Amino acid sequence: MSLLSCLNYDISEFKPSVFPKTPVQFEIERKIGIPQNALSSQILQEWQLSRLNQVIQYVRHYSLFYKKMFASSPEQLNSFNEFEKFPFTTADDISIEGNRMICVSQSEIARIVTLDTSGTTGKPKRIYFTREDQELTIIFFGVGMSTLIEPGYKVLILLPGKIPGSVGDLLQKGIERIGSVGIQHGPFTDPFATNERIEALQIQTLVGTPKQVFTLVRAWQMAGKKKCPVRSILLSTDYAAPSLMNQIRNGWNCSVLQHYGMTEAGLGVGIDCAAVRGFHLREADIYFELIDSHGLPVPDGQHGEVVLTTLTRSGMPLIRYKTKDISRVLPGDCPCGTTLKTYEWIKKRKEDDYFVITIQELDDIIFTQSGINGFDAAWIDQTINLNLYWETEFNFQNAALIEWMISNQYPTIKHIIIENKIGFPDSAFEMRKKRITS
Ligand SMILES: [Zn+2]
Repeated sequence: MSLLSCLNYDISEFKPSVFPKTPVQFEIERKIGIPQNALSSQILQEWQLSRLNQVIQYVRHYSLFYKKMFASSPEQLNSFNEFEKFPFTTADDISIEGNRMICVSQSEIARIVTLDTSGTTGKPKRIYFTREDQELTIIFFGVGMSTLIEPGYKVLILLPGKIPGSVGDLLQKGIERIGSVGIQHGPFTDPFATNERIEALQIQTLVGTPKQVFTLVRAWQMAGKKKCPVRSILLSTDYAAPSLMNQIRNGWNCSVLQHYGMTEAGLGVGIDCAAVRGFHLREADIYFELIDSHGLPVPDGQHGEVVLTTLTRSGMPLIRYKTKDISRVLPGDCPCGTTLKTYEWIKKRKEDDYFVITIQELDDIIFTQSGINGFDAAWIDQTINLNLYWETEFNFQNAALIEWMISNQYPTIKHIIIENKIGFPDSAFEMRKKRITS
């Protein structure tokens, strides 16, 4: 059975033996220097502990920030328990002291990415990468893409890629490393024109945000187009509701996988395998922890905040960086047969606990409806305001069902105001993560 026939599956026909093992495991084995399929959790942990010791020595020596921060921490780690006593780093640390985290000279920095803050300071975060750091990302992107493409495939990249070192640029290089063709397209505002290009170039794979790709599928259907050449899709950057993934999968009869990305972690963090049940993470490059609200480790199966430590980055290593993403280790072995853990898709952020309803929860409800093209949401005066965008006026009747589902599942929401519109929301074409405005 070929890789692609494996990918086009129905969850009701789940047959464990048909999924090829995640290539993320093979890349970890290559990096550690062991034969394929030889990885065990013990081998991985020994390697991670050894790398942690090297990284801590490295940052203590070269970074003013870490030298001060780890002044009273032990010189040598003998166990992960000892590492759990090291202080955390946060988004605020990066905003305020990011330039003191750098371990190389400015001339060795190849790219600086400025991010809107996710901390409390209001200052942007700057993340610094050397050429070697970028090379690690390119390799991981190639490895990850080999889950869903074969040599010679044409991949249209909908993420920004004009600037050297940008996510689209590194992705294109990674795709070329495995013998496929990465084509830059970038963000778009006319989904019908983008679809014309997909058809003209006979694109087999797309990489884009969930709302970008969903918009293309809806535009394809609205234009009355028939068979789409796209056979596999990688969704990145934002949460993808199961209902939205199903609409994409069914609309184009293609496989849909998710990528876990984060600029701070070197853009690539993890990717689904062909079983599409959660992420396998690049655990040779990044050491992951899941912690509770007191900073203590949670057992496998329980939700916690993702904390990461970069094991191979040289420009701006991050040690015990609190990401605010919430995940958990899924119980049971993955049907792809890997010895790696599987992490649940990120559908919650730490700050989401403060909201009555999250944008992800709205996604889960709204994208169950046929004819929906997208939506905008605002929380004003204890009222959820929804602008729903539909294919035709005929679909407006579905708004009542959405209102009922929200009221039923979130009884603390007392007021819902819905405005129905035709077309696509402008937000569908923006690259920033979807959010509820206020
Ligand atoms: Zn798997």
